[in-house]
Amino acid sequence: MIHTGRHFLQIPGPTNVPDRVLRAMDQPVIDHRGPEFAELGLAILSGLREIFQTRGHVIVYPSSGTGACEAALINTLSAVDRVIIFETGQFSDVWHQIGERLGLDVDYVPGNWRRGASAADLEARLSSDTRHAVKAVVVVHNETSTGVTSRIPELRRVMNRLRHPALLIVDAISSLGSIDFRMDEWEVDVTACGSQKGLMVPPGLGFNAISEKALAANKNAKLPRSYWDWQEMLKHNQAGFFPYTPATNLLFGLREALTMMQEEGLANIFRRHVRHGEATRAAVRAWGLEIVCEEPLEYSNSMTAVFTPEGHDADRLRKIILEHFDMSLGAGLGKLAGKAFRIGHLGSFNDLMLAGTLSGVEMGLRLAGIPHKEGGIMAALNSLTPSGTRKPEPASVSR
Ligand SMILES: *Cc1c(COP(=O)(O)O)cnc(C)c1O
Repeated sequence: MIHTGRHFLQIPGPTNVPDRVLRAMDQPVIDHRGPEFAELGLAILSGLREIFQTRGHVIVYPSSGTGACEAALINTLSAVDRVIIFETGQFSDVWHQIGERLGLDVDYVPGNWRRGASAADLEARLSSDTRHAVKAVVVVHNETSTGVTSRIPELRRVMNRLRHPALLIVDAISSLGSIDFRMDEWEVDVTACGSQKGLMVPPGLGFNAISEKALAANKNAKLPRSYWDWQEMLKHNQAGFFPYTPATNLLFGLREALTMMQEEGLANIFRRHVRHGEATRAAVRAWGLEIVCEEPLEYSNSMTAVFTPEGHDADRLRKIILEHFDMSLGAGLGKLAGKAFRIGHLGSFNDLMLAGTLSGVEMGLRLAGIPHKEGGIMAALNSLTPSGTRKPEPASVSR
């Protein structure tokens, strides 16, 4: 089938790459040891700090997000160190697997894939750990397989109240640049991230933002590392360079994306994602379908996972939508395979793209013969522009 117009890439990452970012990458490669590169490197390393809301260092790897997760662990821990990892979904499973393969002593706190990391579970575990055997607590901030956002400040409060010295390691791969995330204020020690979600850059860059405490832990961490070593990176980063060839053209793209984010302003970016999250959930409720996240305080504003009714294959729905409307939706992952689909509403995105996305879902539900109520689109539009209210002037234009 021939498709006209633009493909709708509404998976929760990789996300739509803005034309400005694509054009910024369409340049000759430059010498990564030359003066022009140093300027690029320094601009990016300082711009990233604003997005992570940190004054600490941010490391950039030519890697996917998973590489950044591995880097976070091997730079701070030693073999058989005890680590608490919260089961939130498919991506916490990945952390669990990395931890096991590295030879860490992982305490994988069970979860039902419908809620975020539990502060009560953390309290129970850490308060019995009087000898401080636990060296790190790992949490996926926004669990992309379920659309559940864990409440990081509550977890940090538990750690502080118990005066537990473990590091707090957070996967912010699908929240950074879309859902409020405050590295310094929340006292996160290592944040792992990737380029292809809220940051609007193609896949291929991994990030570690690191606290002073994590940097100190790095000095004593014995897990073997070479390519991922922070010290080597930091040494070269001082002058804007990298110890090995960086992904130069992705960095051109990242520089432009950071400029775009500065123009819009972080607070406005977060507000935009809140609106789109709310409108999406309004549509899902009007259809009479069930949202995977069962705790309203933990609804993700970057993506929404939706159950299809019992006996209706979510992958068949996605296939029909792809064939008829040229739109990609996220598959149910792991134990949600075939049972749920995911709508990405993060990154380079606006009201009409959301309206188009939800229209594609509603028409797909009809074509797939999935029982649902009509009116999801209307509910979303009403959520975006409630009657009787006038949208305030956007506050985003001034720098
Ligand atoms: C996408 C994602 C990952 C994996 O990143 P890759 O770039 O595919 O390696 C890990 N954690 C979360 C929360 C994600 O959304």
